Amino acid sequence: MSDCIFCKIVRHEIPAKLVYEDDKVICFHDISPAAPVHVLIVPKVHYKDILALNEDKDMGRDLMAAVLNAVDRVAKDQNVDEAGFRLINNCGEDGGQSIDHVHFHLIGGIKLEEKLI
Ligand code: 5GP
Ligand code: ZN
Repeated sequence: MSDCIFCKIVRHEIPAKLVYEDDKVICFHDISPAAPVHVLIVPKVHYKDILALNEDKDMGRDLMAAVLNAVDRVAKDQNVDEAGFRLINNCGEDGGQSIDHVHFHLIGGIKLEEKLI
């Protein structure tokens, strides 16, 4: 998806503050952080949301394994692995998704409310 902003970040066409990158995912600071730590974990292949990712069975599992690895790396890099953090995926309109390229928010560095909504 050439006009997708996260695809442009994946291709390093627009800048982002990178935290971690490998061949399957790219992780960078959210431009509008909701907490002291707010990193986006983005599979490099464009899927519009987590359901579309699941439709592509082998790739979906491959990329989710890479996301899991990235969560571990980013949490340690950002020093929230011991205190804890929250991992969020917004899916679709009611889920509050604003960028239609599947991604996960890793949020921490502050005591978060138990209430989600
Ligand atoms: P969503 O609402 O789709 O779950 O999350 C999209 C996130 O992407 C938002 O938290 C928003 O602040 C972030 N975002 C949007 N555009 C950019 C950008 O150009 N660079 C970075 N680093 N984050 C962005
Ligand atoms: Zn994209």
